[in-house]
Amino acid sequence: MPEVLVLVDHVGGTVKKATLELLTLARRIGEPGAVVIGPGVELTALAEHGAAKIYLADAAELTEYVVAPVAEVLAQLVGETTPAAVLISSSADGKEIAGRLAVKTASGIITDGVDLAGGDRIVVEQSIFGGSTVVHAGVTTATAVITVRPNSVAPVAAPAAGEQVPVTIALSPVATTARITDRVVEEKGARPELAEAAIVVSGGRGVGGADRFTIIEALADSLGAAVGASRAATDAGWYPHQFQVGQTGKTVSPQLYIANGISGAIQHRAGMQTSKTIVAVNKDAEAPIFELVDFGVVGDLHAVVPQLTREIIKRKG
Ligand SMILES: Cc1cc2nc3c(=O)[nH]c(=O)nc-3n(C[C@H](O)[C@H](O)[C@H](O)COP(=O)(O)OP(=O)(O)OC[C@H]3O[C@@H](n4cnc5c(N)ncnc54)[C@H](O)[C@@H]3O)c2cc1C
Repeated sequence: MPEVLVLVDHVGGTVKKATLELLTLARRIGEPGAVVIGPGVELTALAEHGAAKIYLADAAELTEYVVAPVAEVLAQLVGETTPAAVLISSSADGKEIAGRLAVKTASGIITDGVDLAGGDRIVVEQSIFGGSTVVHAGVTTATAVITVRPNSVAPVAAPAAGEQVPVTIALSPVATTARITDRVVEEKGARPELAEAAIVVSGGRGVGGADRFTIIEALADSLGAAVGASRAATDAGWYPHQFQVGQTGKTVSPQLYIANGISGAIQHRAGMQTSKTIVAVNKDAEAPIFELVDFGVVGDLHAVVPQLTREIIKRKG
């Protein structure tokens, strides 16, 4: 079975859920080899999710620079193992690493995949033009460099050997030109990161004001969800811009997306259309968002959302 390398994304030593999703996808197309870059990473989850090998490049130096050393480690491993694919999470950093790796190894690259299938050639599914078109693409080179959007698949455990393979590398002078001088940890509440959340509850112009976003937050908290917003809501100053979902905001692909008071403009759809289950609450039965939904409620969100929140809290006991 061909090897498939998975770049491990970690924060404070904890492996991110997006990596466990990549390991789950990697098992469909080969034998996963997890690539850990940096010291102090908790490795148990990697073996639990199918990593037959764990390539451990744990020199502290590798995390002192921006993305270039990561691409060099991966390029070295591609040279040594000729994997069928390298899977990387579709974050801003992930896409930059993937681009650099593809150039270094003369490999084909596909970004923002939402699904993968094996066979004679790896086929990557992408959702483009605001989700209106599905593309199936493959590369013609020996190794495919593929970035996959978080939440494209639910992580499934499948214990494997997790054999640790130490990796040493002499970084090139080019990789060490941009040093990280400081790291500031973003202050976060208890809610999950928007781009990685399994459930997203969003509000739009229909919410009607900044103070009224509390009902969106209450629904999100009852579900352990992240809060999102349409551009109309962020432009109005009702919710911070970093929570905007859409073409010029974040792309989310959660298991459940609940759109409240959002019309469903093409630019908003572009950021959420690949959500697995879509629910909308809108008082206009003709709103375009209803073309997308799995379940729609025609009604005033100020009546519907608090009822829904109460019911969820009641059922959770
Ligand atoms: C280049 C470009 C990039 C853009 N990028 C983005 C982007 O990234 N993300 C994004 O979201 N938009 C983006 N937009 C803007 C986009 O075109 C829409 O204007 C925007 O998404 C509309 O937001 P909305 O659905 O909240 O507001 P509206 O379109 O005004 O819709 C509000 C909805 O709320 C409903 N409503 C009102 N009151 C209630 C109530 N009490 N209860 C229930 N329903 C109610 C209405 O029926 C309506 O359907 C972009 C536009 C351009 C031109």
